[in-house]
Amino acid sequence: VETSEASEPIVVATEDLENDLQWNISMRARIDTAMEAGELHCVYQPKVNVLTGRMYGVEALVRWDDAERGPISPMTFIPQCEKAGRMEDLTRYVLQTACNAGRYFHANGQLITMSVNVSSILFADLKIARIVQDTLLASSFDARHLMLEVTETARISDFETAIEVLTQIRSLGVRISIDDFGMGSANFETFVRLPFDELKIDRLFVNRMVEDPKARAIVASLVRLGKDASISVVAEGVENEQELEVLRKLGGTNVQGYALSRPLSLGQAVRFGQMENELVNKLA
Ligand code: C2E
Ligand code: MG
Ligand code: MG
Ligand code: MG
Repeated sequence: VETSEASEPIVVATEDLENDLQWNISMRARIDTAMEAGELHCVYQPKVNVLTGRMYGVEALVRWDDAERGPISPMTFIPQCEKAGRMEDLTRYVLQTACNAGRYFHANGQLITMSVNVSSILFADLKIARIVQDTLLASSFDARHLMLEVTETARISDFETAIEVLTQIRSLGVRISIDDFGMGSANFETFVRLPFDELKIDRLFVNRMVEDPKARAIVASLVRLGKDASISVVAEGVENEQELEVLRKLGGTNVQGYALSRPLSLGQAVRFGQMENELVNKLA
């Protein structure tokens, strides 16, 4: 599909619980066939340096185009996939797709970092480390250009195991990002306990910071915290020029959001990177 996403995929929210339940069960049953039938694919959202405008990475986001129902949002099907015990398979699929896409960027002269979302439930045992290692080998993608975004860290209950798994993955050269920082309950515990390289400020704070001095103070202090702790910081969900301006003034953050680009097809993302590079060359 060569079109960028003009709007968000449909999030199914029905009042009718019975329908909801049936929908969930049928969706769970379909996840396997969807994977086999090639109804899943990935789109890639640029990650950009706010000061240079350079695209230094992309985040792979999974999409499911159901043959009958049309696009289904990951917000809807990821939880179902988890309930169906299919997260490992889904993650393996996304990792493979993303690493192959990463090689395509590199072959086109763009040494971007490829980020892949991994649900925190997979950090409860060492299997995910093996999956990451196998995927890197099979795709010959350089581990140092792969980053895993750990989602829903508040759900990590066994820190000892999570630390062991993350440490093993990092020893391959893969970097770790904490997604949606600031949401949930265990984030500062996460911050001090888990080994990681990047922190993504949840868009709740980013979208409020222009009007709300408290939200702005949180964003400013997280940017500062990142500098002091030598962790790179990404502001998520940047939607307009005012938000970009606030972040430019704070300096040195990376940004992601509709203000820069919606998630794109692979071809479009490569072209976006070339465009940005031309812009940087003109500025330099
Ligand atoms: P996330 O990892 O925090 O990804 C950011 C989400 O915000 C994406 O939604 C993206 O399309 C959307 N977004 C980006 N910029 C903006 C903006 O400026 N404004 C607004 N309103 N939204 C923006 P998406 O693709 O629907 O994904 C939702 C969540 O589903 C992701 O949140 C991630 O937690 C999960 N997800 C997506 N793909 C995967 C995957 O392959 N594996 C796992 N485990 N989770 C995934
Ligand atoms: Mg993410
Ligand atoms: Mg996020
Ligand atoms: Mg999010």
